[in-house]
Amino acid sequence: MAPEFNPLEVAQAQFDHVADQLQLASEVRQILRWPLREFRFQISVHMDDGSNRVFFGFRVQHNDARGPCKGGIRFHPNETLDTVRALAMWMTWKCAVADIPLGGGKGGAVVDPSTLSVGEKERLCRGWVQGIWKNLGPRNDVPAPDVGTTPQMMGWMMDEYSTLVGQYTPGVITGKPVGSGGSLGRKEATGFGVIYTVREAMKHLKLDAHNCTAALQGFGNVAQHAAIGFIEQLGGKVLCVSCYDRNDKTSYTYFRPDGINPRFLQSITDQYGTIDKAQAKASGYIIEPGDAWIEKDADVLIPAALEGQITADNVGRISPRVKIVAEGANGPTSREADEVFKQRNLFVIPDFLCNAGGVTVSYFESVQNDANYYWEQDAVLRRLDQKMTTAFNGIHGMAQSRDVYMRDAAYMVAIDRVVKAMDLRGWL
Ligand code: NAD
Repeated sequence: MAPEFNPLEVAQAQFDHVADQLQLASEVRQILRWPLREFRFQISVHMDDGSNRVFFGFRVQHNDARGPCKGGIRFHPNETLDTVRALAMWMTWKCAVADIPLGGGKGGAVVDPSTLSVGEKERLCRGWVQGIWKNLGPRNDVPAPDVGTTPQMMGWMMDEYSTLVGQYTPGVITGKPVGSGGSLGRKEATGFGVIYTVREAMKHLKLDAHNCTAALQGFGNVAQHAAIGFIEQLGGKVLCVSCYDRNDKTSYTYFRPDGINPRFLQSITDQYGTIDKAQAKASGYIIEPGDAWIEKDADVLIPAALEGQITADNVGRISPRVKIVAEGANGPTSREADEVFKQRNLFVIPDFLCNAGGVTVSYFESVQNDANYYWEQDAVLRRLDQKMTTAFNGIHGMAQSRDVYMRDAAYMVAIDRVVKAMDLRGWL
């Protein structure tokens, strides 16, 4: 993340910009500019060497007018309360544009999970739940995995919560492993959802995917499935992906002019999304600096790593060939870079529309948990496609009818739905 990038400032500035256009009343702005509730707590973990280490945990509940708060848990060494606040706010808008009956929340802990043993990770996950469980629950706040957390961790957290409340409660958390209350299709959901929105944008721009290329940043859960979807579902070519290499403490781009093979790369990638450099090199991949992805001669750019990756410093390096920016990551674009996107008339699929597939299938998972009846993968992905396509069309329709930028249109749709719910509940 660029040093000047504060995600909360970006999230609030984006909100203010559209709130002005909508002439939102000041009391409505007051509620929506900040989270309803936020928690910061200590987690004391017994380490394998006999010592005790204290970590900081967060949970922020931005808005629950439309339903229980929903949002991931990130384990990242640079996690801050402002990042979690911004991400919680974006979750409110994301659930609203996907039109699922949930509000926005986010959580995390300041930790590099790759430095912990399996046992330490399990104790940290259980400690995180012990610190916040009274404010979680299927009807008030339902976390999920995000950067640095895994389905296995969600399984431990669900188990800890069930123990604390004294009954099996799979609906307290989503993104659980299949076989332990998880949904088929959740693993693929965010990346495939990105691709469903790219497909719709291409239809609008009359682009044939078979003649199109994409460049991706990241190679974790989102980027892996977006790369697979771009090739296998749309018939396009992916030029590169990138990752942060924890051993070398730097990032690399993995490039092949004739197109990468994401399934091969997946087979040599660890659980944190780090590609094995030596194996990739031996298989003919060209290994470039981590920021090389941004200047590839691609039709579609998919930032799918972290927030704050496209900034005033590097936006000028984007190739003139690029027509679509599909924001797989949350908040990948700084305000300055966003202005350049507008001037260049790029078709931007904004983050909380583009990556809404994950939360949509998380919602399907809760529905399956409540019913105690589990759907086939095809049914999950078909319903996901319907939801993403409807959401895309609603926002694109708003952008065209009001002649506004896609990101502003997404905010307009989301704010309208959330304000309506607050009003119907008598909050205003
Ligand atoms: P992940 O931890 O699985 O993967 C992150 C990837 O980004 C890894 O490959 C990592 O090496 C790479 N990366 C990190 N820093 C980098 C850098 N400076 N340059 C290049 N690569 C870098 O995370 P994920 O679940 O794929 O999430 C990625 C983004 O998508 C995040 O912004 C997350 O909040 C967002 N998101 C995720 C989901 C989901 O379901 N997983 C849903 C919605 C949004």
